[in-house]
Amino acid sequence: MRTIPVQTRNRAEMVDITAQVRDAVRESGVSSGICVVYCPHTTAAVTINENADPDVARDLLMGLDRLAPRDWPYRHGEGNSDAHLKSTLVGCSERILVEEGRLILGTWQAVYFCEFDGPRQRRVHVKVVADGVRLADGVRLADGVRLADEVRPDV
Ligand code: ZN
Repeated sequence: MRTIPVQTRNRAEMVDITAQVRDAVRESGVSSGICVVYCPHTTAAVTINENADPDVARDLLMGLDRLAPRDWPYRHGEGNSDAHLKSTLVGCSERILVEEGRLILGTWQAVYFCEFDGPRQRRVHVKVVADGVRLADGVRLADGVRLADEVRPDV
């Protein structure tokens, strides 16, 4: 697992972390599998959306403000219930396919860390899980040992 530090600068903002996620995939050495991007915060989130027009990120934040207004009669005494609500609406993780060692993202897609109660020092965890088990040369499973279909070696 790799942890990406994210320093946010505003109460709400979307930070493009695609390059750091690509680095994590490269460092993992996994050529085919799934990359999980996980946000361990309750007032932030992770999403995938357009990075070509910066107005899209601004519109997403504006739309979330409409869905979860800051001045609503919430009960949570910390005064950041709108941020908790946005975190749950957007979600704390994304899964991205990895093929030939590369993230499979659409042309206009980027991975965003979403800050809803900043500015703060934040973290995002990235784990890359390979498709199957590949045994080292000369290694064989002991007699009677069976692997589930999902992890059967492709040899
Ligand atoms: Zn709170």
